[in-house]
Amino acid sequence: MDLRYAPEDEAFRAEAREWLTDQLTGDFAGVRGRGGPGDEHALFDERLAWERALGSARLTCLSFPEQYGGRDASLLQQVIFYEEYARAGGPGRVGIIGEGLIGPTILHFGSDEQKRRFLPRIASGEEIWCQGYSEPNAGSDLANVQTRAERDGDEWVITGQKIWTSLAHWADWCFVLCRTDRDAPRHRGISYVLVPMRQAGIDIRPIVQITGTSEFNEVFFDGARTAADNVVGDVNAGWKVAMGTLAFERGASTLGQQLAFENELTEITETAKKNGRSSDPVTRQRLADAWIGLRIMRYNALRSLSSMARGELTPQTAIHKLYWATFHRQLGEVAVDVLGPDAALAAAQPYELTAAQRLFLYTRADTIYGGANEIQRNIIGERVLGLAPEPKVSS
Ligand SMILES: Cc1cc2nc3c(=O)[nH]c(=O)nc-3n(C[C@H](O)[C@H](O)[C@H](O)COP(=O)(O)OP(=O)(O)OC[C@H]3O[C@@H](n4cnc5c(N)ncnc54)[C@H](O)[C@@H]3O)c2cc1C
Repeated sequence: MDLRYAPEDEAFRAEAREWLTDQLTGDFAGVRGRGGPGDEHALFDERLAWERALGSARLTCLSFPEQYGGRDASLLQQVIFYEEYARAGGPGRVGIIGEGLIGPTILHFGSDEQKRRFLPRIASGEEIWCQGYSEPNAGSDLANVQTRAERDGDEWVITGQKIWTSLAHWADWCFVLCRTDRDAPRHRGISYVLVPMRQAGIDIRPIVQITGTSEFNEVFFDGARTAADNVVGDVNAGWKVAMGTLAFERGASTLGQQLAFENELTEITETAKKNGRSSDPVTRQRLADAWIGLRIMRYNALRSLSSMARGELTPQTAIHKLYWATFHRQLGEVAVDVLGPDAALAAAQPYELTAAQRLFLYTRADTIYGGANEIQRNIIGERVLGLAPEPKVSS
């Protein structure tokens, strides 16, 4: 990938920077820096309005074709946007699952009708999505999903339970991995079904997390319905689509993510300077290590993006997930250690947390979602090092 910026890239950077700065110091100043990990509950209505303002400025879903509300933007321009977004302190995006997961999946695997129906409403922020993969007995072992979809005339009828469903309480739609053939080998009897969330037959129960907030939920489907043509890809061929979605999860946002972590490190370093812990030799080493870790992340992300720009999907993405998740969890530990005993005091009654506390608590999840560390190590062991595959219980 050629990382020199062409004049049109610089022009796009200037446009994005100016728009973000204007909005986040003007009408949307209140959402600046809000809604991140452990703060997802904050200011939902305001952040939904922000999502729609971004959509009106055509600053969501940059990679989508123009006809579906995007800009057909190059990978480099997408990276530029994520960098500028992090630099400006843009809030946690309520449309992130639509833009990052289901949008690219529909673009790649969906029918023309599905593209027309769903993509523009993702880009405009009109419809919010959630991901219905995990179940109580299907997390790392995702092919074990038991939620069923059965055909009834022109509709699918969905029955079963999903868990850890982020943002389900706000979502208009969910992409649900369902078993559609119980007799087929387990990877071959799964379909990728798009289900409207606001209907009888869906019960959403928030799960209170260690942060005291409820970013994710249990979702019970009891005869929920969706139209027969709301299946992405072929019926019973949903496993391939589901794996495609996971590959999209590690796209252009990775560089912006690194800048967001840099903002967190800057704050931690400033705290250490103010409270005197920056003179403690071990703290100094840990802060310097974190700074070095960020540089490694950046070069690793650039290397992955270069491969993606050449159309290659390499096992390097597994290294990246393992690296950033472990890095971020450790950064959370540094954040509270720098506070010392003050880290044990809540910001306010009854359980209002400081940014450092939220970072510490939420980053425990980073090494679990999107593929747990152990699973990433299995991928590296098997696909990079060529080690013998771990024994499978069934296939
Ligand atoms: C904050 C957060 C948000 C989430 N959001 C969503 C969402 O929106 N939608 C959704 O569908 N899911 C979501 N998840 C669920 C997430 O995808 C699962 O938690 C993850 O896949 C792990 O599955 P599990 O929790 O069932 O753990 P398990 O798979 O039961 O794993 C438990 C432990 O065993 C280890 N383990 C399992 N199998 C192996 C193996 N073969 N070899 C070695 N070790 C192994 C794991 O690494 C882990 O340490 C979210 C999770 C979190 C924490």
